[in-house]
Amino acid sequence: MLDTALERIDVYRSWKACDPGPDHPIDVRYAAMPSLTKRDIREHFPQGLLPSGLDIDRGLADGHIELVSTSGTTDDSITNIWNQEWWDASERSSWKLNSHINNLVYGEHREAILANPRNTGFISDDADLPMDERRTSRFLYLNEKTDPTTWSEELMNRMVRELEAFRPEVLEANPSLLARLCRHIADNGISVFQPGAIVTTYEYMTKLECRQIRRAFGSPVISSYGTTETGYVFMECEAGRLHQNTDFCRVDFQPFKAEYGGPLLGRILVTPFDNKWCWYVRFDTGDLVRLEPSGRCPCGRNSGIILSSLQGRKANLTQTLAGRPVTLCEVDDVLSRLEGVTQYKLIQADHGEYELRLVSPLREKKHLVAEARRALKGIYGPDATVSIDFDTDFAPEESGKSLISRALIPIDVQSYLEQGQPL
Ligand SMILES: [Zn+2]
Repeated sequence: MLDTALERIDVYRSWKACDPGPDHPIDVRYAAMPSLTKRDIREHFPQGLLPSGLDIDRGLADGHIELVSTSGTTDDSITNIWNQEWWDASERSSWKLNSHINNLVYGEHREAILANPRNTGFISDDADLPMDERRTSRFLYLNEKTDPTTWSEELMNRMVRELEAFRPEVLEANPSLLARLCRHIADNGISVFQPGAIVTTYEYMTKLECRQIRRAFGSPVISSYGTTETGYVFMECEAGRLHQNTDFCRVDFQPFKAEYGGPLLGRILVTPFDNKWCWYVRFDTGDLVRLEPSGRCPCGRNSGIILSSLQGRKANLTQTLAGRPVTLCEVDDVLSRLEGVTQYKLIQADHGEYELRLVSPLREKKHLVAEARRALKGIYGPDATVSIDFDTDFAPEESGKSLISRALIPIDVQSYLEQGQPL
């Protein structure tokens, strides 16, 4: 893989100078390489990312591949070559990592999907689409609205009725949307069909959302991590750790320096395997993770990297007064504990300035404000300026995903990395 990339693919031409050579161990060679960024992909797409001789027009004409654009801002959005056959194989392989879903017959199971249609499914913001117009083969898309704050009670009741009628073995969900549906289900004492497993994906699931989902569903809730670029990379096992999908990708972990939360905290670079239409090497997915400290898992699976948690995206990082990075997961640990909060959003407006917005059904909010302020000062420092305001609801970002934390000041992740990893 690495040799083909270095020898035959344009985008890696400058990387050859970093290669210590084929007589060195493969891990050493990978570690010496830079990372592949979305910018590289944009600038070299498509032929500069493929081995010479591979004809993308023929692949498209044959129907083996199609082009897909990932959602996001202009800075973030890229076009990828989508290879369905490889994607399905990557997903099937990831299922081995959790016995709740590994028991299902892959490719024959009924699956309901609760996602933002900007990410997958059918968009219809004005008229409601009947169920048969939201079906494809064994899939049912429960939601056709791009803005879930417009969901009516009737629409959410329809989702509950459709789950009962469709009886999916797997419910794949964007956690912010599923939590919203679950608040409706629990608040109204509605009974709902329990699928064999709930797989959350597309977004980081907050502990608050997880609790809300648990109020409506007793099904196992399994976190699946992957990207359009890399396929399925990590899957949560029955013991709550995340295991690498080793047959389909290599993962290079780059730890942060100790003063920035390392060495268990770091970023990942992913190299997907065996997709002849995708030759990404050390692709920077923009996600941060925490390694399982023992390197082992009670479930007994021991191949590849084992994570204790996903930590959110680089874009979710904020910074303390002292300059330490704070991951979405760390923010979530304290904010999800606040009683009487249904949603939250934290923006770091400037150095030392934090704006927390909360949605809460409580009438008397004074105690909540004091507690939230105390929690944030506990993370960011006693001199942090914290403002707390209340909203009635939060719409998702233009990407279709919910925003939970973000800094408006630039944050240089490169400077956090141990040993000044090359760009
Ligand atoms: Zn495990």
